Amino acid sequence: MAQMYFYYSAMNAGKSTTLLQSSFNYQERGMTPVIFTAAIDDRFGVGKVSSRIGLEEDAHLFQQDTDLLEVITALNREQKRHCVLVDECQFLTRQQVYQLTEVVDKLGIPVLCYGLRTDFLGELFEGSQYLLSWADKLVELKTICHCGRKANMVIRTDEQGQAISEGDQVDIGGNDRYVSVCRQHYKEALGR
Ligand SMILES: [Zn+2]
Repeated sequence: MAQMYFYYSAMNAGKSTTLLQSSFNYQERGMTPVIFTAAIDDRFGVGKVSSRIGLEEDAHLFQQDTDLLEVITALNREQKRHCVLVDECQFLTRQQVYQLTEVVDKLGIPVLCYGLRTDFLGELFEGSQYLLSWADKLVELKTICHCGRKANMVIRTDEQGQAISEGDQVDIGGNDRYVSVCRQHYKEALGR
């Protein structure tokens, strides 16, 4: 039985590295994975998943209005696909998460999604909300705060390194940085 997996974490926990490792494992066994990433993330050029340790693979891009069931059905007709890997899955819409459940349930292809659980305000992303609700398997990828505790929150800082407590959920093309911290240091950074 194919299943849907949600691998979630704060920033810099090696999500893309884990995704690329899975892709490699499938290919090593002669199987064909297909990779998607959000069109919103153009840090490394269009249509690529790159990890901080230097691995890289081409990826299909999804926009807010991409019908993932339709796209994956067409790709699978062209050539049998054994696995769907989705990076930056926090940017999926509710409808797209549903389409991915159909990929699992109707096409019988496993779907592995990798992304953030919450934004810099501690709120769930839309994609993460429905992946937490509907995925078969939830897997936390851990990273640590500067104090050594598990980091489960993300701070957005401005150019001076000051934590920001308001703004859009997605910062496109800004100079802001993101730091993963434990909940206690998140509260301290925001002066709570
Ligand atoms: Zn801490």
